[in-house]
Amino acid sequence: MLRKSETKYRIVADNAYGWEFWLSPEGKFLYSSPSCKRVTGYDAGEFLADPDLLNRIIHPDDRSIFLSHHDKSAAEDEIEFRIMRPDGTHSWIGHMCQPIFDEDGQFLGRRGSNRDVTLWKQTGELLRESEEKFRHIFEQSPIGIGIYNQRGELIDLNEVALKMLGMSNLSEVRGLKLFDSLNISDDQKKRLLKGERIVTEIKYDFEKIKRLNCYKYKTTKSGVGYFAVLITPLLQKPQLPDGYLTHMQDVTDRKQAENALRASEARYRAIVEDQTEFICRWLPNGAITYVNEALCRYIDKNRDELIGFSFMPFIPEEDQQEIKRNLDSISWEKQVFTLEHRVILPTGEIRWHEWTDRAVFDGQRRIIEFQATGRDITERKKAEEELKRTSDELRRSNADLKEFAYVASHDLKEPLFVISSFAKLLAKRYKGRLDTNAENFIAYIANGAQKMQELIKDLLEYSQVGTKRKAFKPVECSLILSKAISDLQVAIEESGAAVTHDNLPTVMADATQLNSLFQNLIGNAIKFRSAETPRIHISAERNGDEWLFSVRDNGIGINPEFADRIFNVFQRLYTSEEYPGTGIGLAICKKIVELHGGRIWVKSGIGKGSTFYFTVCDTGVTLCALDRRQKHRVKQEIPFDVYHGNGISPQMR
Ligand code: ADP
Repeated sequence: MLRKSETKYRIVADNAYGWEFWLSPEGKFLYSSPSCKRVTGYDAGEFLADPDLLNRIIHPDDRSIFLSHHDKSAAEDEIEFRIMRPDGTHSWIGHMCQPIFDEDGQFLGRRGSNRDVTLWKQTGELLRESEEKFRHIFEQSPIGIGIYNQRGELIDLNEVALKMLGMSNLSEVRGLKLFDSLNISDDQKKRLLKGERIVTEIKYDFEKIKRLNCYKYKTTKSGVGYFAVLITPLLQKPQLPDGYLTHMQDVTDRKQAENALRASEARYRAIVEDQTEFICRWLPNGAITYVNEALCRYIDKNRDELIGFSFMPFIPEEDQQEIKRNLDSISWEKQVFTLEHRVILPTGEIRWHEWTDRAVFDGQRRIIEFQATGRDITERKKAEEELKRTSDELRRSNADLKEFAYVASHDLKEPLFVISSFAKLLAKRYKGRLDTNAENFIAYIANGAQKMQELIKDLLEYSQVGTKRKAFKPVECSLILSKAISDLQVAIEESGAAVTHDNLPTVMADATQLNSLFQNLIGNAIKFRSAETPRIHISAERNGDEWLFSVRDNGIGINPEFADRIFNVFQRLYTSEEYPGTGIGLAICKKIVELHGGRIWVKSGIGKGSTFYFTVCDTGVTLCALDRRQKHRVKQEIPFDVYHGNGISPQMR
């Protein structure tokens, strides 16, 4: 009976898939099932013959696990260890071991059951590795990733995503509903459920979230954040997604930049559209790409009627060539030109325009577009033409007038000479033979003729100032003044006048005209002297980029009311009986000063003497050595008392 049952068990053990063995109480192999060959690579006979074989083939690192397991008296959990196969590979063994006792409780040895778990171990390892790899990708991804289950509840969120939302812990958001928390429309939801991927953009107003306390988590973020989210349904079967994967990117900076750009573009557009200047852009082939509102209004056309077409039909043929030539001449070196040309309006009216055309280049400096700003200048053009016509006319009539004044005064000299000569002859020949009246009449004629001669001489001089203009040269004013004083020597000596002056500069001037200017002013100072002995002082000082001259006298003075008038032709304040003269001298002075780029005026009062001021432009004059020493102010008054009565300053002698 016992033998029968032992045979039965042996048959079972011999055919077991796993490796069964029996160890004696001393640890010797009493039985090993044949399957040990498959599990370990060694025959059952080898284990029976070599009791230490099992110990030897257990991987050294796992030997202690095996031994400690065997030391225990009771059955324990399954242990795993590696064994070294004869071919050098190793197998993982899942081992369970039980101590066996007989009915009397006597220890009979151990029964070991072993199975080859190598494949399972390897698969587990691979799975762990793959899981680790994916977790690594999940955690290290620079994109925020979320994983939702089939019901759309959040089950995982990587670090980046947590950070984006200002959260610290996944537990704070686990369970959040995909379809509630993200900005998903009904249509998008339908598409997701069908397994389609969708992209959505969500805006989180973190302040509002904090205020309303609408989520169970507390965000540390502030302000507004924009996120682009790609939602991918995870499909195993085609029917319904098993879950959802979200990829989230923080696009706040881009969005804010876009918003700022949009605002600035709107501002720019408003400027471009609202301005009255015309703006137009076109491609190198001539096709218009943009026209602003002002231009559309001006030519009474819609944008659609202009965009894609050329502007050339709006230009008269005669002007087209010039525009083309200028456009062709545009290059990287010369990117802009401005041109005035005519434009034909749809009504047929021709207007003048001014356009500034500029090329737009690509990275290779090739022209990709032109842009131009323009304006209607018809009115300005008309005004310019009118001005040109008037100034041409004025120039012509001025020339005619000069010619007339010259011819008239020149030709009048001749008959006047005849009148005055014959009047003198008459007075001489018939002296004492005519009555007193007749002699007076003859004297009047002679006197009148002489005055007229003076007038004509002065008029001739006036009309000629500036006609024979000489190139300005550096002129030493002190030398010119000496010359003028010596020309006036008779008058100076007669009146006992004292003429003094400071150091005078060298200026760019016409020496003859400057001489005439000094002569006129000093001559007047002597002529319009008061009861006092005339004292005349000439000085000059630097005033910015001009020299300010003054001629001061102690004469009768001028009523300030007439201070401007006296510079006009024939304007005199006294009769020629009171003070001889023609009233042309100061007009000549004014003309001379203006030809030198300066101004002339007088400061005076009746009985207070007069000071005539005039300026001379200082354009690139080589200053005389003295001037350079004295820099700007040239003033070295010579006291009147010293030279009073002599009339001539020491420099003159
Ligand atoms: P004219 O000397 O021939 O009268 P001007 O043109 O030189 O003509 O002068 C115009 C007028 O200005 C003079 O008639 C005189 O009334 C006044 N005038 C000019 N210079 C002086 C001066 N230094 N003092 C007072 N009056 C002057």
